[in-house]
Amino acid sequence: MLETINNDSELFSFEFYPPKTEEGQVSLLEVIDKLAVAKPEFFSVTFGAGGSTRDKTFDTVMAIKAKGYSAAPHLSCVASTKENIKAIIDTYSANGINKIVALRGDLPSGMLSAGEFRYANELVDFIRKETGDHFEIHVAAYPEVHPQAMTADADFKNFKRKVDAGANAVITQYFYNAEAYFYFVERCEQNGITVPIVPGIMPITQFAQLSRFSEMCGADIPRWLRKRLEAYGDDRDSIQALGVDFVSQLCQRLLDNGAPGIHFYTMNQAAPTLAIIENLSV
Ligand code: FAD
Repeated sequence: MLETINNDSELFSFEFYPPKTEEGQVSLLEVIDKLAVAKPEFFSVTFGAGGSTRDKTFDTVMAIKAKGYSAAPHLSCVASTKENIKAIIDTYSANGINKIVALRGDLPSGMLSAGEFRYANELVDFIRKETGDHFEIHVAAYPEVHPQAMTADADFKNFKRKVDAGANAVITQYFYNAEAYFYFVERCEQNGITVPIVPGIMPITQFAQLSRFSEMCGADIPRWLRKRLEAYGDDRDSIQALGVDFVSQLCQRLLDNGAPGIHFYTMNQAAPTLAIIENLSV
């Protein structure tokens, strides 16, 4: 097990979803302590669109902060009113939170009202207008194009609106094709976008769920990798071994070629992410 990592530049950030139960919360805090050896810049906590995890996100963020770590709540604006969003950001601000991941979110099925915000750029704009420079705002980007985008060009222009509205940093959707990220970063440079574009990386620990999830969010699993993972069937050890090997090489390549850090979608587990970090020379 990793004791500590020679990484003073806070290269990593780790994302969690808020646990539903108190036992879940206790075990998440253990996971967070384990991941803390990698000296992350921050831990982030997702927010169920429509406010479904509003309190649990807040409780988890405050529990992380109480342990002395930097915590960043996600906030999605779909199906929300300005009044709701203002109450949430004011509460975070009053509780000493100064980083936020600002998103549109996806309207939960059955929920009809889109609310007072249509897109994430409007949320970034609102946070800036209401709270000035208090928050360091992170936004999402899609090197392989957002699944609802009409065209790749339109998606890029829409992404740029978020940076123009005042985002300080960017976290990408996960991807397994490094070229998609490098092309996206090059496009940002050509368009005068200078904020850090941090690759979001999902460790591979199983196949069926990853495949379904990737289909939904538009992340491509390269055919050769899909075929190899699929062939392992229920053999989770082999899936995980290939996953660690492949994702470690991907991360190393990203860092070697200028990625400013890595944001891990941890799925509330420490071991898969730590196994990858242990393989990196940083
Ligand atoms: P937007 O930037 O608003 O983009 C959404 C779509 O609308 C895109 O197709 C874009 O091209 C288009 N668009 C954007 N602006 C405009 C405009 N002005 N005019 C016309 N079209 C426009 N979801 C959650 O519910 N909770 C979370 O905590 C969460 N965390 C995430 C963290 C990261 C790092 C990432 C990458 C995603 C996360 N998501 C989360 C998922 C995210 O909410 C979905 O991917 C959602 O579909 C898009 O959110 P967005 O903020 O990127 O939206």
